[in-house]
Amino acid sequence: MNFDRSGVDALMEITKRPELVFVHGQGSWLEDHNGKRYLDFIQGWAVNSLGHCPPEVVKAIDEQAGQLINPSPAFYNRPSMELAKRLTGASCFDRIFFANSGAEANEGAIKLARKFGRVRRNGAYKIITFDHSFHGRTLATMSASGKPGWDTIFAPQVEGFPKADLNDIDSVRALIDAQTVAIMLEPVQGEAGVIPATVEFMQALRKLADEHGLLLIVDEVQTGMGRCGKLFAYELSEVTPDIMTLGKGIGGGVPLAALCAREEVSVFDHGDQGGTYNGNPLMTAAGVAVFDALTAPGFMDAVNDRADQLSEGLLALSRKWGMKGERGNGLLRALMLDRDDGPAIVDAARDWAPEGMLLNAPRPSLLRFMPALNVTADEVDTMLARLDEVITHVRRG
Ligand SMILES: *Cc1c(COP(=O)(O)O)cnc(C)c1O
Repeated sequence: MNFDRSGVDALMEITKRPELVFVHGQGSWLEDHNGKRYLDFIQGWAVNSLGHCPPEVVKAIDEQAGQLINPSPAFYNRPSMELAKRLTGASCFDRIFFANSGAEANEGAIKLARKFGRVRRNGAYKIITFDHSFHGRTLATMSASGKPGWDTIFAPQVEGFPKADLNDIDSVRALIDAQTVAIMLEPVQGEAGVIPATVEFMQALRKLADEHGLLLIVDEVQTGMGRCGKLFAYELSEVTPDIMTLGKGIGGGVPLAALCAREEVSVFDHGDQGGTYNGNPLMTAAGVAVFDALTAPGFMDAVNDRADQLSEGLLALSRKWGMKGERGNGLLRALMLDRDDGPAIVDAARDWAPEGMLLNAPRPSLLRFMPALNVTADEVDTMLARLDEVITHVRRG
């Protein structure tokens, strides 16, 4: 069956897409318009924490859709209260604001920090962020991001985001002035190529922030909700941040994100923050189902077992092919290639017959893996064996 192009030209062109349409998904597997199956180690960019169409999330959405979809954020709804209670109970945070995307949650974090600066820190507003960081695609979050080129595309930027170097505490200290209100970082830089902040660095940041009365903001849109082997990645370094944002995995695939803050920092007045869809029961019901699955007994143990298996398998591939090792936390991992054939490997893996495989190369010299958190041991083995075949094909022709 050929690819039916109808509708393609009606979509705004924002990225290069392969000529296939996915029509069905189950667990770690996707199926395209020709019935070809793909082993999915991208999962919507670390979004489908429980894989495609997990029964508990499908059931939660189905039941909620039949009851109440959106009474408006001007009123309470039960699923949003349930999810907020779960998140505050499992973290160091006291207050949750639900958003619809990671970028929107980060916008909220930036606004909250600036409001805190205005009411508590004599108008301080600068937020120190990091080179190569990624915080989203709104104007403020693009300005906060340290992606090369992003400082000019939509110039002028939102000002007030000086950039430091990850894992270099002196570079952070050097940027602090009377206008600084916060430091914001991803505990593992995802889009930059899975670069973890070290435990020592996270702890030094907390100390530095305390010395200067600054807020520590962790963008856990990619690292949170079990992705890094703990419910939240900040737990890996045992620091207590002041603000955290969640997105991606929190909704198991549906648009849901969260801004989490400690009580002392929750300084929004009525009218400062809001949004038509925020905290709607349809999405937060999905979030409750995801949360309960992640926190069920044994679930995170299995995540860490699969993480060890994936890590060892990637290391073995690296040794076999003379690559540069692997890194990451939990099920957010990268294989560092010895040359820039990441995109060729990604294309060959997708086009592999009879079954394809979905991988991601955020940089040409690196492959990123972000499978479903409930990926099976067999699926990890299958991916590793096929990746070896694909590399053989790409490198030996
Ligand atoms: C994906 C991502 C975002 C943006 O989330 P969207 O839902 O795409 O707006 C922000 N921060 C990090 C760390 C991310 O990985």
